Parts: sequence; C-alpha cells; structure tokens
Amino acid sequence: MTDFDVIVVGAGNAALAAANSARENGAGRVLVLEKASREERGGNTHFSGGLLRIAFNRGRDLEPLVPDAEAEVPGFFEDVEPYSADDFMADLLRVTAHKTDRDLAGILIGNSYDTVRWMHEYADIPMEPAVSLSAIRVGNRLKWQKGAIIRAEHEGVGLSRAWFAKSEANGIEIRYGVGAVGLLQDQKGTVRGVRARGGDGVEELTAKAVVLGCGGFEANAQMRAQYLGAPWDHAKVRGTAHNQGDGLRMALAIGALPWGQWSGRHSTPISNEWPDFADRERTDRSNRLSYPYGVMVNRLGLRFVDEGEDVGLYTYAKYGGEILRQPGSLAWQIFDQKTVHLLEPRYQTSQPITADSLEELVELLDLDDRPRALRTLHEFNEAAADDDGFDPSRKDGLSTKGLDPEKSNWALRLDKPPLVAYSATGGITFTFGALKIDECARVIGTDWRPIPGLFTCGEMVGGLFHINYPGGTGLVSGAVFGRIAGASAAALAMG
Ligand SMILES: Cc1cc2nc3c(=O)[nH]c(=O)nc-3n(C[C@H](O)[C@H](O)[C@H](O)COP(=O)(O)OP(=O)(O)OC[C@H]3O[C@@H](n4cnc5c(N)ncnc54)[C@H](O)[C@@H]3O)c2cc1C
Repeated sequence: MTDFDVIVVGAGNAALAAANSARENGAGRVLVLEKASREERGGNTHFSGGLLRIAFNRGRDLEPLVPDAEAEVPGFFEDVEPYSADDFMADLLRVTAHKTDRDLAGILIGNSYDTVRWMHEYADIPMEPAVSLSAIRVGNRLKWQKGAIIRAEHEGVGLSRAWFAKSEANGIEIRYGVGAVGLLQDQKGTVRGVRARGGDGVEELTAKAVVLGCGGFEANAQMRAQYLGAPWDHAKVRGTAHNQGDGLRMALAIGALPWGQWSGRHSTPISNEWPDFADRERTDRSNRLSYPYGVMVNRLGLRFVDEGEDVGLYTYAKYGGEILRQPGSLAWQIFDQKTVHLLEPRYQTSQPITADSLEELVELLDLDDRPRALRTLHEFNEAAADDDGFDPSRKDGLSTKGLDPEKSNWALRLDKPPLVAYSATGGITFTFGALKIDECARVIGTDWRPIPGLFTCGEMVGGLFHINYPGGTGLVSGAVFGRIAGASAAALAMG
C-alpha cells in the first residue's frame, strides 16, 4: 500500500492542472508538494500576466470563455481575427527558427483550445479579454494581436488563486514548505515516490505515480552560469525564487534525458530599478515592452537591435537577453510625445527621465559616451520616416534607411518634446532546457525508454522553445501537458 496514488511536485499552473486532472481521471489520494510557504505559493504562475495563446477558428469560439466580452469591448467577437492551428504552428516555427519539437508542438496546439475551455469550465478559472496586453485602439475599435487575446481574470494572481481553490474543492492535499529532494525507485527502476524535506526534516513519501511540475532553473545563479553562461548569473529574476532546478536535477540523477535548448531562456526587457527577485505584489509590472515605438541605446550610446523587427510579443522574449549582454546590462528606451500614449500601462510603475531636447536628455541619462549617444539619436532622426502611414496596430513598414541595425517598422523621428526615457535591463523568466517526454507526458530516459512511474509538465518539458517564444504559450503548454500528465498518472495509479 502506497501513501498516495499520485504525488505532484510543485504548485504552479502545470502542477495543479496535473493534480486536478489526476483527480478528474479517478486518482483518489493526490498529494501536492509545494516547496514555498503558503504565502509564497504558486511559482511563476502567480507572477504571470495570465495571457493564454490558443488556436481557434472564429471569434465566436471565444464566447464560452468570455461570454460578457462585448459588454466591456463592443464588437469584440467580430473584431477578433481567427488564429488557426496552422497560424499557431507557423508562429512557433518562425520564432524558434524551426527548432521546436514538432510532435510536442502539435500536441500543444491541437489541445490548446480544449484545454483552456477545460481550465474555464472544469477548473472554474474566470477569463477576460487581455485588453491592456493585446489590443491597440484604432479609431473607436480595438485591433487585436492574433492568438493571444484571452487571459485569466486578475492575471497570474487570479489564475493561481483559482487553481488552489479548485484543488482544495477537489480534496487534493497540499503540503506547503515541503520540497522534493529526490526520487524513490524500486529495484526495477520504477519511480515509487519522493524524498521530501520540510520543517520536520526529511521523509519518504510513496505513490504509484509521480508528476514533476516544479519549474526550471531560472532562479539558480549557479545553474544559470553553468548552462546559460555569463552574464546570466547576475540577471534579475522576474518570477519566483523557488524554481531552483530541483526537479531537473532529481530526474537527471535517475537517468532522464535532457531535451531542448539548455543554453536557452525566456527573458524580457524589465525596469533596471527592479529588485533582484520579483516583487510579489507588483508581479509582472516590471516589463518594458513598448520599445517598438521608440529607440533603445546602450551605455556606449549605440543602438543594438532592430526595435521594430516585429510586434513586441514576438521579440520581447529574446530582446531581454540582448539588453543583458550590453555593457552594464543596461539600455535606455527613449520615446517622444508622438508615441508616449502607446506605452503599456506597466510603464507607470517607474518615473521616466524627461527633457525638452535630445541634448538635454543625454546629459540626464546614465551613459558612458554621451556624444556618441547624441550622434546615434541624430543619425536615427535623419534616417527615420515621415509620420504618414504610421500604424501601431500592424507592421507598418515605416523603416529607417541606411542604419545598422535598421528599425524596420514604426520608425518615427524623436522630435516632439518632452522626450522621455525609461531604464531597462534583461530579466530572466524561465529556462528552455528541460526533459524529454512522450505524448503521455512520461519522462524518457537516456536509453530512450520511458522511466516507469515518472511524468512531467510545465517548464520541465523540453523541446518546445528555442531562442525565442511566442507570448502567452507557457501557461497553455503547462495546462496542456499538466492535464495529460495527470490523466496518465491516474491511469497508471488506478489501472
Ligand atoms: C513575470 C512573468 C510573467 C509571465 N507572463 C506569462 C503570460 O502572460 N502568459 C504565459 O503563458 N506565460 C507567462 N509567463 C510564463 C509562465 O508563468 C510559466 O511558463 C508558467 O507559470 C510555468 O508554470 P509551471 O507550473 O511549470 O511552473 P511554476 O508556475 O513556476 O511552478 C513551479 C512550482 O514548483 C514549486 N517547486 C519548485 N521546486 C520544488 C521542489 N523541489 N519541491 C516542491 N515544489 C517545488 C514552486 O514553488 C512552484 O510552486 C510569465 C512568467 C513570469 C515570471
């Protein structure tokens, strides 16, 4: 007799999707181990924007998720463009340079809509249109970015709260302040439980199946240095301090197969004023993602990326890393009054530096080479476009001519004072290197066979993301593979 049918390690979106799916699929005794205290529970999910990227065929398909959307956003269901499974796959392939694991990507995309409906209908997670993240006002209508339109109500805080409420209602036992430190195996190599450490010391807990949903190694400076290299060891962490790579180390120790881009990570431009670990109250308000409407210069006074390569949701996950690699891991994002109204509301968590001219502005900024910065900004203005045709709701083709790097879209001159500047650095969100799984979310070993009794989900699934990532995919991936892992674990436990 084991202590539990299924033990789930972690208590973020993926783990709680797995625990609830295990219950739904017949597992009677499900235990969730959360290393964090109750006050710090919920992993990166708590800090997230709650944005959910899903494939759907027509705007009305979103009605079951947000039945009241038209009351808040008139014309919502008509204005939202469909986002087919092919569109989703094309975006994933494009931003990952065709390196995404196509089998996993197919499962993720094929299940994205059904799983988000399951989150809403089975797990009672309220949802809303993600107006502040995905919509741009054009005239009196909103123009939506494709695919990433819905988010959990009250973002990650609401999502996490709803998952815990459902878990409690489902009779799932949650132990806070108890972290798994190792996996138990029998003589045949079948995983039979975990070794766990809590306030009372170390104990062994047995189960018929174990699901690891305990995040990546983004909060672990040593592992960041080891796998991502410098300067990632000093990156600010955008989410929980508890994702220390524990689950990955435990699984690798019993022969799990590393999968995906172990030197890769999701990181975004965030305010340089933010603390080293994110603030639980202000969650993801550190993001500084409106750079497509301005110019970024580093401490040497140089531009270093094409700020207008694409809309922010397709570049933000790689530009955080670009900023971190700049001298002092610092960049200045500069805007003028032509675009300052387009800045996301999250910019309001900082006071910008303002000035009436470029000359005055560079004197106020922390820069190593002010004359060079001024030359860069003047050269940018000379190469920039006229305002005609500026359209923040799509790639408008207003490009600079003759710069390296060019700014390919939205390249308006900085000439309408006051000018405003916000500091940015690169904040790490999560890591891409993880474990190989099969279609049942079973962990595959280095012998290319499933490790019996062991399943995983969420950030611990390797292979989906390389180099870059389409915004809103992490939570849906966590829910899709968490739901599958929970069902598979229940089938094994109760079979
Ligand atoms: C600021 C921010 C904004 C984001 N915004 C979005 C967004 O809008 N949309 C989107 O799709 N994605 C977003 N993401 C990414 C998204 O949050 C993650 O992809 C997702 O939350 C990962 O879920 P998870 O369950 O795998 O991990 P987590 O939610 O991080 O959960 C991991 C859990 O494991 C626990 N744990 C760790 N080690 C142990 C151990 N040894 N024993 C027991 N428990 C352990 C942790 O305490 C935690 O509860 C954002 C992330 C951040 C940080």
